[in-house]
Amino acid sequence: MAQRRRLVVTGVVQGVGFRPFVYGLARGQELGGFVQNAARGVVIEVEGASEKLDLFAAALIEQAPPLARIAALETSELEPCGEHEFAIRRSVEDGERTALVPADIATCDDCLRELFDPSDRRYRYPFVNCTNCGPRFTIVRAVPYDRASTSMASFELCDACRREYEDPSNRRFHAEPTCCPECGPRLSLEIDAAVSLLRRGKIVAIKGLGGYHLACDAANEQAVVRLRKRKQREEKPLAVMTATPELLVELGAEEESLLRSAERPIVLARRRSNAPIAASVAPGNEWLGVMLPYTPLHHLLCTDFAGALVMTSGNLSDEPIAFENEEAERRLGEVADAFLSHDRPIERRCEDSVVRAAFPIRRSRGYAPAALPLPISARKPLVSTGAELKGTFCVVRGDQAFLSPHLGDLDTEPAYRAFRTDLELYLQMLAVEPELLACDLHPDYLTSKWARGEGLELIEVQHHHAHAAACLAENGETGPALALVLDGTGYGLDGAIWGGELLRVDLAGFERVSHLDAVPLPGGEAAVREPWRIAAAYLERAERPVPFSGWPRVRESLKVNAPLSAGAGRLFDAVSAVLGVRERISYEGQAAIELEQLAGHVDAEPYVCRHEDGLILGADLIAAVSDDLAAGRDRAEIAAAFHEGVALVFSEACGRAAEPRTVVLSGGCFQNLRLLSSTRRRLEKLGFRVLVHRLLPPNDACISFGQAAVAAYAMR
Ligand SMILES: [Zn+2]
Ligand SMILES: [Zn+2]
Ligand SMILES: [Zn+2]
Repeated sequence: MAQRRRLVVTGVVQGVGFRPFVYGLARGQELGGFVQNAARGVVIEVEGASEKLDLFAAALIEQAPPLARIAALETSELEPCGEHEFAIRRSVEDGERTALVPADIATCDDCLRELFDPSDRRYRYPFVNCTNCGPRFTIVRAVPYDRASTSMASFELCDACRREYEDPSNRRFHAEPTCCPECGPRLSLEIDAAVSLLRRGKIVAIKGLGGYHLACDAANEQAVVRLRKRKQREEKPLAVMTATPELLVELGAEEESLLRSAERPIVLARRRSNAPIAASVAPGNEWLGVMLPYTPLHHLLCTDFAGALVMTSGNLSDEPIAFENEEAERRLGEVADAFLSHDRPIERRCEDSVVRAAFPIRRSRGYAPAALPLPISARKPLVSTGAELKGTFCVVRGDQAFLSPHLGDLDTEPAYRAFRTDLELYLQMLAVEPELLACDLHPDYLTSKWARGEGLELIEVQHHHAHAAACLAENGETGPALALVLDGTGYGLDGAIWGGELLRVDLAGFERVSHLDAVPLPGGEAAVREPWRIAAAYLERAERPVPFSGWPRVRESLKVNAPLSAGAGRLFDAVSAVLGVRERISYEGQAAIELEQLAGHVDAEPYVCRHEDGLILGADLIAAVSDDLAAGRDRAEIAAAFHEGVALVFSEACGRAAEPRTVVLSGGCFQNLRLLSSTRRRLEKLGFRVLVHRLLPPNDACISFGQAAVAAYAMR
């Protein structure tokens, strides 16, 4: 006796080979019915004997394609209609558009074999892809995910490709971006020509998945120096793409698996001392960002070039990455000697992700737009606008938070415009119309001003509360907990700069328990670029001699422009300058990064720092550093004793606060592995449960997620 059932599958089920999988399953069990993409997900109707239908439903979940993520499976009974054939039907627009667009996926092994097989019709074709790999997020205009709603719509399938596309037994059955040299996109420059330019030390702008890269020979010092000069990027490390990363960096098991994951991020790993790479790729840095080729074009380039390529974002300094052909030619024309472009449009920008073994530094390509679960469901759709540096926004629907890719620093007009465009595209893709906004408390952030001007219900979240909330929520918790938030800058409730904070928090609110004693930043922003100024202010506070010759002049600025800062990042900057590691920086965090490297794994007893009436007197640490330096102690030992001192005083502050027994760690300073591991170890020794970031960066890229969690909780 035949039965008929309707199954609605939601989650990441479009663009991952789900329909062909269902088709194969249904045919294998001789069931009738159909499968179809719908705006909510995938809809299946199956008809046959009830035991076969049960087997079918079980296999649907157990054997789903590797890239699929099933969120829910709803089943309902229908009247049988005597159907014996199974078919894939055209997509329907059924109003409520909640299907999830998959992230972009690195070229799979099957496609790679074809790419390098001289007898294959796609031999050396730089756009080969299939249902298991290829562009997704960066080419999608709208859901449901069909070729017609991607930037492949204008490329009509040739007969050979159409046969594959319509053949249920083929790997390209309904592979939406499939194409071949006959019918697909074309390069603007021969690969041979690009490779020969790169060999001659030229800079080539290369169109990738989510934007342009600027590429040059990573072993050619002059080429790298020229790239830095033209891109206006002095010393910030450049990422490298190579098919043989093991020649450049030491790879542990975790780094290896991250490198080879379908997301293909840039992985920070320890550089080999004999790495065949120009000194200017990552000056003064023990770490190197490496990635494997992840598109067919990259594979062809890396194979033909047979060496490592610098592959850095196609932009000037910290602007948004260029992704449209004309825009790229205009903005990168002065930087690149040539363009390796193509005619498949990129629908939205998406920069490379950067991860280290413990946590991401930048969650972007390969991860976006995968949803992160919130511990509480938002009663209204909302958008949160994040912080200003390392900007991201977050769109929330129910308990799903869709974090944007990395947007860069949002403190310039072009960056702000990019934020508006990207948000518009995201809302369109997710079919969300926000009814509530959340933003940072800061009066001057462009994104906060935008949120205030939209005329919607608004929640303003204090920066460090957002950090703590992000860490809680990504761990599936709502609090209460203690939170150590150590970062550079955040607008405090009193209008001062906060950033060395021990808070007692939950998603509803917070109390400031203890914090770093604030010091003046002589010259304001200038002090962030010139850590010696902060060092001088700290040394004066500590009543120690100030060795910097510029001080008498700069000291005058204390009277007119010296905002108070309690940022822990500034304390690290100051020590870096006192030790002569870095008096001026050319990228954010440089002084602290180099100080961490100096400390390395050197053993040292922690410096002692007073903690009175909720004030942590950071100047004590500066005094100890200054005294030991004067006494001729080894600088690495001093740096180590300082790191241990910070970890000690903040973990003891948690001990004094005593309750609750969970501590969350967030803020950019916790990208410092020595600080992170020492603080964690000391807290655990005191009996605390410690929660850290694993899915999100500890830096300001997590702020929008934290704001979203606070806003969702406020509506409960
Ligand atoms: Zn493939
Ligand atoms: Zn074709
Ligand atoms: Zn922050």
